[in-house]
Amino acid sequence: MDFDFDLFVIGGGSGGVRAARIAASEGRARVALAEESRMGGTCVIRGCVPKKLMVYASEYPGLMQDARAYGWQVSSGAFDWGHFRARLEAELTRLEGAYRGGLKGAGVTIFDLRATLVDAHTVALADGRRVTAKHILIATGGRPFVPAIPGAELAITSNEIFHLDALPARALVVGGGYIASEFACILNGLGVKVTQSYRGAQILRGFDEECRAQIVSAMQGNGIDLRLSHEVTALRQGAEGIIAETSTGAEAFDLVLYATGRVPNTAGLGLEALGVEIGTRGQIVVDAHSQTAVPSVFAVGDVTDRINLTPVAIREGHAFADTIFGGKPWQADHDLVASAVFTQPEFGTVGLSEEAARVQDKIEVYTASFRPMQSLFAGREDRVLMKLVVSQSSRRVLGCHIVGPAAGEMIQLAAIAVKMGATKEDFDRTVAVHPTMAEELVTMRKPSRVD
Ligand code: NDP
Repeated sequence: MDFDFDLFVIGGGSGGVRAARIAASEGRARVALAEESRMGGTCVIRGCVPKKLMVYASEYPGLMQDARAYGWQVSSGAFDWGHFRARLEAELTRLEGAYRGGLKGAGVTIFDLRATLVDAHTVALADGRRVTAKHILIATGGRPFVPAIPGAELAITSNEIFHLDALPARALVVGGGYIASEFACILNGLGVKVTQSYRGAQILRGFDEECRAQIVSAMQGNGIDLRLSHEVTALRQGAEGIIAETSTGAEAFDLVLYATGRVPNTAGLGLEALGVEIGTRGQIVVDAHSQTAVPSVFAVGDVTDRINLTPVAIREGHAFADTIFGGKPWQADHDLVASAVFTQPEFGTVGLSEEAARVQDKIEVYTASFRPMQSLFAGREDRVLMKLVVSQSSRRVLGCHIVGPAAGEMIQLAAIAVKMGATKEDFDRTVAVHPTMAEELVTMRKPSRVD
């Protein structure tokens, strides 16, 4: 049978764009891609990239305070949100253009339309056209989930936070995951009075407990009003703002941000009718090659709800394209994926937390907790925590966790060693780079805990 294309990709985010470009490169395949919103997807348009730029913006008050301690005669002035937002939008437009240009350069046909599946080889475009393809890749990502409480429509999500007309004076951030914790810190740094409400006993569930405690203590020290074991039951508009009914009473805010998880974008794509298996969280169920129950249909990225991180989606998309169109079969490796939470302080982590490792193995835990030179000199109390979780039997470093400035940068490099199976003795044999924070990773002599 003759198809219009060899590959049709639905979704122009990190995973879809990478798969389309690799499949189309060097004339390997005739590729089309449909995107109903802006090219670049969550990461570029409403996620990692604008978030990180907001993190940078929010760090300047602290940097200016430090600058004065270092002898610079600077004064902070006010933050001009309108100025920042215009520059942010321009940068996102530039990046969107780069993504589009990359696709065009690789010879990918772009449809700026929503696409849904008709059968195992046919997609319907929102303008009524039908297009056939030998393979279809679904890379439609995810979207914020907001629990159905009364007045939920008064809350915004991370999708809207970048488009505010003005910064609020008082913000309530609901949730205790990556997004809630990052935005609590960002808004706090930008001068907003922040209350963070989390239903559980401690935010950043699943991460190393000691690190979570250190982050929370710093966030509270920075002025965030963190309410734990706290629930928001309803929102309503009042004269003095949005009134949040909570487990501890009613309170008024100018902005309520819900960051209570994300759900895969699988609804309305025509997947169930086709026989594509949908899991209990609404995700597309795939095998290690990202293939669904329908052999011509594949899926990568957040829509499959494996590890919901941009670099993972990129790997999955790349592996798919190399395997199907490049004659180079390989699978994305989901083991020992490092990540960073851009809270203030930042958190970089790879491998097992102390608690998870202890369940599997007899371990030694090495920690270094110190005040880093730069902020110590400036008179700040900030502390850095570095932690290695080591197997007593194999001596391998099972987990490495860093809380402090540039933790994301440091963990990327430590992750290479951990991924290679480095032992504690390999770390010890590595000569320190002095004076740095990271040198503590190779100079931890005695375990803090052995069990
Ligand atoms: P997370 O799954 O990380 O966190 C969701 C939070 O919302 C949890 O604290 C959860 O509580 C809480 N929650 C869930 N349902 C409810 C409810 N009904 N009522 C109240 N609270 C609720 O999701 P995020 O939205 O923060 O992020 C989504 C994903 O995006 C992340 O898991 C990550 O993969 C990715 N991401 C990565 C970033 C990075 O790499 N820096 C940055 C941002 C996102 P509980 O713990 O009790 O379940």
